[in-house]
Amino acid sequence: MKGFVFHGPGQSAWQDVPDPAVKEATDAIVRVDVVTICGTDLHILKGNVPEVRPGTVLGHEAVGEVVETGRDVHTVQPGDRVLVSCITACGRCRFCWERTYGQCRGGGGWILGHVIDGTQAEYVRVPYADLSVHALSGAVDSKDAVLLADIFPTGYEVGVLNGRVHPGDTVAVVGAGPIGLAAIATGQLYAPERIIAVDLAPARLDAAKGLGADAVADAREAPEQLVADLTDGLGADVVIEAVGAPEAFELCTRMVRPGGHVANVGVHGRPASLHLEDLWSKNVTITTGLVDTYSTPTLLRMAAAGRLPTSSLVTHTFPLDRMEEAYDVFARAADTGALKVVLGEPQHDVVAVRAA
Ligand SMILES: [Zn+2]
Ligand SMILES: [Zn+2]
Repeated sequence: MKGFVFHGPGQSAWQDVPDPAVKEATDAIVRVDVVTICGTDLHILKGNVPEVRPGTVLGHEAVGEVVETGRDVHTVQPGDRVLVSCITACGRCRFCWERTYGQCRGGGGWILGHVIDGTQAEYVRVPYADLSVHALSGAVDSKDAVLLADIFPTGYEVGVLNGRVHPGDTVAVVGAGPIGLAAIATGQLYAPERIIAVDLAPARLDAAKGLGADAVADAREAPEQLVADLTDGLGADVVIEAVGAPEAFELCTRMVRPGGHVANVGVHGRPASLHLEDLWSKNVTITTGLVDTYSTPTLLRMAAAGRLPTSSLVTHTFPLDRMEEAYDVFARAADTGALKVVLGEPQHDVVAVRAA
């Protein structure tokens, strides 16, 4: 089969790789119908995630059909259409019992396209299939569902829920890429007073407005002043960092009000300064996190009811074998306007009527 292989920083190829096979009784093999590229994959290609070994097939998000299962897989069977979650869960370790699947110590966590071969291929082996894939109802389109493998649960859990967005809050989201946009979309579930989006790219700020941001600010034009002006000088109740850069994180800590929350979502490859000389007396809570995907079943029900704006994040679609071109378009997002690029062809028609 073909897969997209990382060969070290700056080197990758769509090439022949061995077909995956069931290794453990808890494995499933999934034929990949729809797959997407994550900002994290770009971090890997830049060499920011050194534990990814050359030779690894990348990708941790997919929708496909189960074609084979080990004898201890009970929740899905061949023929089922499934969402492959970015997080794998053994279901038995301390962290899995606490629903923090991202920290699984039993062989799960973020492993696909990281420490084992991932989803950017024609087939993928998914360990611990019972807790790591979600059977899809006919009501969810595959191209919508694939955004629930990582983007939506990450924006929701690590941004909105870790940041403790409450009704009436002012929420600032720094970074209006796919994760920031998912945070903007799901932040509105909590009826904030306003959401302010900050980015460098006008197209992304437009997308933020389209998803419900009430105000937008260019990151180069003192966005902390806009936040201060809108909040009587107080600052935002919740600031979500969805970039993964020191300057973005430090901006967040300048925008938060005393007693507020900074929820870091971004993947950082360099150290950021924590200005305790400004923050020590402000009662600020800073959270970090890898997504756990405990919210995925909830988000899938919402997607099936037409209550998540998933499709508005998809700007480009490609057939699977144009992976290298898709990576190029995604990596040059400032020029191409790419938000999410989705590859592959759904094999099933949507049968249920979605809410208007
Ligand atoms: Zn990802
Ligand atoms: Zn576990």
